[in-house]
Amino acid sequence: MLPFANIALIGIGLIGSSIAHAVRETMPTARITGYDGDPSVRARAIELGFCHDVSDSAGAAVTDADLVILCVPVGVMAEVAAEIAADLPGDAIISDVGSSKESVLAALAKALPGARIIPAHPVAGTENSGPDAGFATLFHDRWCILTPPEEAAEGDVQRVTAFWEKLGANVEIMDAKHHDLVLAVTSHLPHLIAYTIVGTASDLEDVTRGEVIKYSAGGFRDFTRIAASDPTMWRDVFLSNKDAVLEMLQRFSEDLSALQRAIRWDKGDELFDLFTKTRAIRRRIIEEGQDDAAPDFGRTHD
Ligand code: NAP
Repeated sequence: MLPFANIALIGIGLIGSSIAHAVRETMPTARITGYDGDPSVRARAIELGFCHDVSDSAGAAVTDADLVILCVPVGVMAEVAAEIAADLPGDAIISDVGSSKESVLAALAKALPGARIIPAHPVAGTENSGPDAGFATLFHDRWCILTPPEEAAEGDVQRVTAFWEKLGANVEIMDAKHHDLVLAVTSHLPHLIAYTIVGTASDLEDVTRGEVIKYSAGGFRDFTRIAASDPTMWRDVFLSNKDAVLEMLQRFSEDLSALQRAIRWDKGDELFDLFTKTRAIRRRIIEEGQDDAAPDFGRTHD
């Protein structure tokens, strides 16, 4: 039996459209209704055909739903939740895919008192956004972290778990605060560093922008992929996970100062030991199937 029969997706960009594609493949009898605040996204979703219906308002999209997933930037979750409050069926489960969880849970609980809220974060994505960027296998063998509030019914958690497992994800359950701390170090801080490095390189005066682009294969190129991620989404992630990001940034700055000192005082052993430790982490990521072991991240060169 399917965990849900009528799924409403509010926000049909990269993640919303990927969920729709994946549901069509794995739960073909489930019905998908989509809505997006941007009329051009709605029009494109109709052309691409990944939803059965595309509604003209968020409220209309949720009226028959047994699962509603908010796939909008974290900063507008509260606003969208308020928009659907009057039409959300009492027995529907409301979820989201936001990259930070404590603030989203608080926003949903405030806008939708008494609703059956089971927040989720599929730890899968690309640097592309919009309805054309979605694809059915995005969640395959990726983690999806659920952060249910304490009062959530066990049966609701199980249904949302079954839903994500059907999409190919591995599900982990975590407290929202802990999620935000873990993701601050594994995702948010790396994005911040990438934005900084690419920003610094583009502001340099003695090295031309042409040279930066021409010699980018020396590591810079991989930072530019991350730094190309959606500006709205990432602005919202940093503002909504402020405490955890600032805490991790403080730790990072201290470690960076230690490295600076090691270089200044020719402490080659310190550098070597650190680089040996970090290499082992890369090995574990590959062993656990979280990345490609092929040289150059599996890029093909024509
Ligand atoms: P996206 O491709 O930009 O899609 C978001 C869609 O929501 C856009 O079409 C946007 O329209 C629409 N939208 C914005 N405000 C809205 C509103 N008030 N009402 C209705 N629709 C609205 O972004 P995404 O990558 O799918 O990200 C969606 C969520 O997934 C975010 O919360 C993000 O943190 C989370 N997430 C992203 C990734 C990733 O790698 N991208 C991974 C995991 C989780 P316009 O932009 O055209 O206005």
